[in-house]
Amino acid sequence: MQAALASGLGALAPAVGGCSRAPSAGAIHEALAALRAQRVQLPSVERYVEFRGVVHAHTNLSHDSTGTPAEILEAARLAILDFLVVTDHYTPRIFTESIEGRRDSVLVVHGVEIPLGCTRGGALTRRCASVLAVGLKEPLSPGENGQWNWDELFKNIQKQGALSIIAHPRGMMLPRYFRQADGIEIYDIADTLRDHLMDIPRYLAGFALGGAEHREALVLQMLVERSNWNLVEWDRFTQERRCIGLAGNDAHQNLRVFGQQVDPYSLAFTILNTHVLAPSGTAESLKAFAPELMTTDKLVAALRAGRCFVSFNLMADATSFRFAAHREAGEPVAAVMGDELPLEDGLILVAQSPVPGLLELLRDGVPIRRQEGRELRHQTDRPGVYRVEVSLKVVDRWRPWILANPIYVRA
Ligand SMILES: [Zn+2]
Repeated sequence: MQAALASGLGALAPAVGGCSRAPSAGAIHEALAALRAQRVQLPSVERYVEFRGVVHAHTNLSHDSTGTPAEILEAARLAILDFLVVTDHYTPRIFTESIEGRRDSVLVVHGVEIPLGCTRGGALTRRCASVLAVGLKEPLSPGENGQWNWDELFKNIQKQGALSIIAHPRGMMLPRYFRQADGIEIYDIADTLRDHLMDIPRYLAGFALGGAEHREALVLQMLVERSNWNLVEWDRFTQERRCIGLAGNDAHQNLRVFGQQVDPYSLAFTILNTHVLAPSGTAESLKAFAPELMTTDKLVAALRAGRCFVSFNLMADATSFRFAAHREAGEPVAAVMGDELPLEDGLILVAQSPVPGLLELLRDGVPIRRQEGRELRHQTDRPGVYRVEVSLKVVDRWRPWILANPIYVRA
């Protein structure tokens, strides 16, 4: 019965894929399996250890989430996350009731989400920005009337050593607060769903009634795409100052259709991940820096340094992706994502992908080199903000896979 319904719904799928006829769920499944089969684990970057996790998730301490702490921890464990940044909508209860710290193999980091106004109202089509304060240690206080003083808010987040990330940046009414933040979301699952509003009923029905292959295809077609507005703005900001680009899973686990949870944490955590490089100390201690030694302070420091990339791991595991600068070919790594270094003769930027794809290098927001395969090399001859995107070809088109934070080459 389910299979029959799924194939019936499958007939509607082309509209989800855009103007051209979308490939079948079976073709997408086969293409993804073929890509994963080509995956290799690249050597880790000298002096760094990589951690994989999720930023931006809600529990039932938020008014719009039904997920319990036990459910979110179980999903994090199943997704083999090293860290989970929980960002419930602000309430002082977060500081007494929220999960925090090491829970088995997962480091849970305190964050909060605080609204910053909207550029568009309305329940489903709204665009409302917020700030994620990651690594917050103590309660913050809104003004007497419950309204936040945004200048004070950013100062207080900074004072606590927490990170401020603008979530849903297209909803930002007051652009000057972009300058106060440490970074922005360059992708957010909830925002992307809102962009596909007309397709949501079809998606939910297909998701609730279809099988695993059908779900995988629906998620790929609905959610795996570049957020062009965010990326253009991010490139503009990094021209002026350092700005971290992160991706928000914005997991709520609050939607049931035909009695089925269609947005379980277990799905949200496998669609998209944030990968972080944390310094391992000396080479000798590399082995000693096991995941359980990761702390909130170390994670926040690595994110603040911009040593991170985001990837749609739904397609393939991007662990071990590398983007680094070398003073000369064959020399050790001189800089990784997030680092700044001076322009010197012979400086080479190298990106390496664990799965063959389309590697693209952008300087100051402009694509300057494309290479199909596993590696892109570029001899730099001018300063700029250099970042890399990797796309994977799934059946009929290239789809974004990895978005890496920039290396800043200074004059
Ligand atoms: Zn949120």
